[in-house]
Amino acid sequence: MQPSVAERRPQSFDRVLSSMCTEPHPAARRAAERFLAANPGDPATYETIAALEEDTVAALAEITGLADAVGGEGAGGHADGADRGDDGPAAHGYVTSGGTESNIQAVRSARERADTDDPVVVAPESAHFSFHKAASVLGVDLRTVTTDGDGRADVDAVAAALDDDAALVVAVAGSTEYGRVDPVPALADLAVDAGVPLHVDAAWGGFHLPFSGHEWGFEVDGVDTVTIDPHKVGRAAVPAGGLLARDPAALDALAVDTPYLETASQASLTGTRSGAGVASAAAAADALWPDGYRAEYERASGLAEWVADELRDRGLRVVDPELPLVAFDLPSATFEALRERGWRLSRTGAGEARVVVMPHVTRASLSSFLDDVDDLL
Ligand SMILES: *Cc1c(COP(=O)(O)O)cnc(C)c1O
Repeated sequence: MQPSVAERRPQSFDRVLSSMCTEPHPAARRAAERFLAANPGDPATYETIAALEEDTVAALAEITGLADAVGGEGAGGHADGADRGDDGPAAHGYVTSGGTESNIQAVRSARERADTDDPVVVAPESAHFSFHKAASVLGVDLRTVTTDGDGRADVDAVAAALDDDAALVVAVAGSTEYGRVDPVPALADLAVDAGVPLHVDAAWGGFHLPFSGHEWGFEVDGVDTVTIDPHKVGRAAVPAGGLLARDPAALDALAVDTPYLETASQASLTGTRSGAGVASAAAAADALWPDGYRAEYERASGLAEWVADELRDRGLRVVDPELPLVAFDLPSATFEALRERGWRLSRTGAGEARVVVMPHVTRASLSSFLDDVDDLL
């Protein structure tokens, strides 16, 4: 007989090395439970969660450099257009269901604003598979271009791919496979010259990048929209993603009329949204921005360097980590045997094993992983 739902327990994070999700912050967990039944998709009815969404967007605006770029004013706001009167706050973003929705919406907004019948999205081949979904549901062409030998967008290749149908250029800031950060300023220059918006996908990397010294967010002229996921390194509960836009027109392009709600329009892709996600993202940012996220960046980066050295010492080829994600060669038999011992490990497209140093990954868990590697090699 199957155990009942009440008897089942979610998997422990102890041996999870492959995931970009993690244990929510305790304050995020409590906030999620309190707001389980609130719907930020209907902000005039659920006003408290709507206010919390504004707080979350304001925090994400600071983290992505948007607050500074637009003068610190009016970066809050949620996905309905109703409170945006002539003197209302500009809405610069909303809490999505995750990086996939954010990326679909960034592509959709660019398509709506593009002056072509055959819009093309130009993205490096390292771009997340959600852009393939976006292209498919939106009927746009996705033109992927090669990366350089280090897994970053090749600026010349992107330049060569731009033509009159280009509607959007995508940069990845923290790639899913290698944690690579594309040269955002150079891509932004290209995009500006071509008159095309630049979207930065920092779904995973966004909570590390403010501390890493990269130029990646709205401090770079030409960056039009940014994806950043509180439910990954931000330590919110699932689902909580973020879409930020420099220009409110980017969100206006997404708005549709909503006849039966108390508010008049809605820019989100989903209708009913998770109050738990929104409230937990607000609580996590409140608890962790900036010092907690900085400490986590430093802890995780140190661990990534350490485990990379340890793996090299064992004669394995390791891809130099840029953000706290380590890819390395591992014989298939060892990979499978580690999975059998309960390690949740995944592979890159090229076949390397990948360890994502998320908040639940500790020096102790990595040491025990290395013990098993030694045992098996
Ligand atoms: C995780 C990720 C996504 C997709 O986000 P979901 O929250 O899983 O929908 C998109 N882009 C990048 C770079 C990611 O790491």
